[in-house]
Amino acid sequence: MNNRKNFTLIELLVVIGVIAILAGMLLPALNKARDKGRAISCLNNLKQCGMAFIQYANAWDSYFPPVHGGNYGTPDRGELSEFLVEWHVYLQPYGLKTSHLRCAADPAVRPGFDDNWATRQSYMYNGMFAFNKRMNVLRNTSRCILLSERGDDAITHQGYEGFAPVETWENNVAKTRHNGRANYLFVDGHAKELKFEETVGNRTVDENQHFVKEYRPDYFTG
Ligand SMILES: [Zn+2]
Repeated sequence: MNNRKNFTLIELLVVIGVIAILAGMLLPALNKARDKGRAISCLNNLKQCGMAFIQYANAWDSYFPPVHGGNYGTPDRGELSEFLVEWHVYLQPYGLKTSHLRCAADPAVRPGFDDNWATRQSYMYNGMFAFNKRMNVLRNTSRCILLSERGDDAITHQGYEGFAPVETWENNVAKTRHNGRANYLFVDGHAKELKFEETVGNRTVDENQHFVKEYRPDYFTG
């Protein structure tokens, strides 16, 4: 006689049900851990960018790199003045790698771009710094945002208009890329995950950390 007890169909279904419940409990935690990992790697990218910006300014008489090639009163960079050269190319001799320009939570391909991913990097340059601006006149470098994460409304340009009213450019920024927040790089080289609202406060010049008071024409006289 065969004493071996076979599983009944009911027992099998119970086991499958328990596995499904356990998997359902585990997956959100795994997804959360993955998202957190992506946010931390993005933050590290921005810190690497920050170090390259600071070294660039040290080498170029405190100037920030231009947003792209062209004559904007910045020191002559020879062949790098060519129009199609973008801001991050100027930083490559100062330690920036193309891998530092890609956030893992950023969609890899956006409509309107060719296969050259370097033209659609995940971070955008604050236009306040892009044209003939110098680091050494800033009085509080830890409050000035230098790079923001690129949103879907900003598929063609390398910079955003931090000098304009907030509502004209805020949708250029990926405001909620990392669990309702996004990462920002400040001029002093620190990077932080913030809610967009925290970066602009009540949207006045005094509270908007994308606007640089020292570059306002009347700041030193008025
Ligand atoms: Zn990111």
